[in-house]
Amino acid sequence: MKNRRKFLQLSGVLGAGLLTGIATACTSPKISQKYIDRNFIASNKFKRYPKLEISLDRIVKETVGLRPFRKKGFRVEKEELGSKTIIHNYGHGGSGWSLSWGTAKLAVDLAQTSGEKSFAVLGSGIVGITTARTLQEHGFQATIYTKALPPLVTSSKATGTWSPASRLIEAQYLTPDFEERWRKTAMYSFRTYQNLLGFNDIVTWIDNYIVREKFNPEPEPLDTDGGKYARLRIAGILPERQVLEQKDHPFHVDKVVKQTTLVFNIPSYINKHLNDFLAFGGRVVIKEFKSLEDIDALQEKCIVNCTGLGSMTLFNDNEMLPIAGQLSFLIPQPDFNYRISTDNGYAIPRKDGIILGGNALEGSWTETPDRAQTEKVVQALTDVMHRIRA
Ligand SMILES: Cc1cc2nc3c(=O)[nH]c(=O)nc-3n(C[C@H](O)[C@H](O)[C@H](O)COP(=O)(O)OP(=O)(O)OC[C@H]3O[C@@H](n4cnc5c(N)ncnc54)[C@H](O)[C@@H]3O)c2cc1C
Repeated sequence: MKNRRKFLQLSGVLGAGLLTGIATACTSPKISQKYIDRNFIASNKFKRYPKLEISLDRIVKETVGLRPFRKKGFRVEKEELGSKTIIHNYGHGGSGWSLSWGTAKLAVDLAQTSGEKSFAVLGSGIVGITTARTLQEHGFQATIYTKALPPLVTSSKATGTWSPASRLIEAQYLTPDFEERWRKTAMYSFRTYQNLLGFNDIVTWIDNYIVREKFNPEPEPLDTDGGKYARLRIAGILPERQVLEQKDHPFHVDKVVKQTTLVFNIPSYINKHLNDFLAFGGRVVIKEFKSLEDIDALQEKCIVNCTGLGSMTLFNDNEMLPIAGQLSFLIPQPDFNYRISTDNGYAIPRKDGIILGGNALEGSWTETPDRAQTEKVVQALTDVMHRIRA
C-alpha cells in the first residue's frame, strides 16, 4: 500500500486533498487488507462468478500476431538520413499497447527538435496512431503513410491488457538508463489510460484471477521465459494483488491470486483514435515503403518511423525478431466479467469477444493459426469451468 501511495503521489494523478483522504484510508487495517470483490456475495457464495461458455464451436475467429520484439528494447531515437530526419519509434515486443502513449511522447519530443511543423508518420498500428495523435496534440500536422490499416496490423491481433514489460527486452541488455526510460514511459501511458476511462469502455478495469495448479506466492512472472526477458516492475502502479483462500473463491485450487488490471477494447479503441486523427485534420495514405529511397521521396522532411517489425527490413535492424502469439475469439459473453489465467492459457472478456491466448513462439513468422493451440487453451479453460463451485 505504501508503494501505491508513493506512486500516486509521484504521478500527480490526485490532488492534495484526495491524497490526504487516501492516506487516511490506508491506515485503516480493514481497508488495506482487502478490497471488496464485486464477484463475491457473502450471503450467496460465488453466485456472481459467471461461468465461461466455452467450446470449440463457439470459436468464431483465430489470429496469429507477430510481436515486434527487439533484443535491446524499444528504439526511440533520432537519425539523420540524407536530407531527412528520421525519428524511430518501434520494437515494443509484447508491450506496445501498454507503452504506446509514453514512447509517442518521447518520439514527439525528439520530432520537435527538427523545427518542422508537418510530419510523416509511417505505420498505423497502435504506435503510429498514438504518435500521430500526440503530434496533433502538440499543434503539428501529421500524415500517416501505411501499407495496411487495422485490423490487418499486429496491433489488432493483441490481447490488449496492461503488460508494460512483457517480452520487452532481453535481460542481458537491460541498462539502468533503459529501465529509467521504460519507467517514465510506462507511467506516462498509465496516466493517459486513466483519462480514457468512460469513453464507451475503450479502456476498462477488470479483475484477473490466477488459478494455478501449484500456488506461487510470488507476483505473476511477466512473460520472462525463465529469465531470458528482463523482469521489470513498477511497485504500486496497480491495486495490490490479493491471495484468496478457498472460502473466498469458487475455483478448484486452494489459493487464487487476484489482481485488478486494465483492458483495452481494441477495435473501438483504434476506431476512436483514428477518427479523432481524421477529425483534427490528419490524412491517411496507403503506401508501402520498400526502400529508404521511397522514404526519401516523401514531401515531409521529418519522418516518424512506427513500422514495428517492418523496421527489420526497412532499416536493416538485426536486433529484431518476431514472437508469434495466437489468439482465439469466443462469441462475446457480456456477463463474463473477469479475466482468468491458468497454467495453459487465459481468457479475457472484451467487447468483441472472449479472447483466449497464452502462447509465444520466438522467431516464428507463421501467421496461420494452429488448431492444436486453440484446442489446448479451450481444454485448459473447460477443465477449470467444469470444476468451478456454483
Ligand atoms: C498475441 C499478442 C498479444 C499481445 N498482447 C499485448 C497486450 O496484452 N498488451 C500490450 O501492451 N501489448 C500486447 N502485444 C504487443 C503489441 O500488440 C505490439 O507491441 C504492438 O501492436 C506494436 O505496435 P506497432 O504499431 O509498433 O506495430 P504494428 O501494429 O505492426 O504496426 C506497424 C504498422 O507499420 C506498417 N508497416 C510496416 N512495414 C511497412 C512498410 N514497409 N511500409 C509501410 N507501412 C509499413 C504496418 O502496415 C502497420 O500499419 C501483443 C501482441 C501479440 C501478437
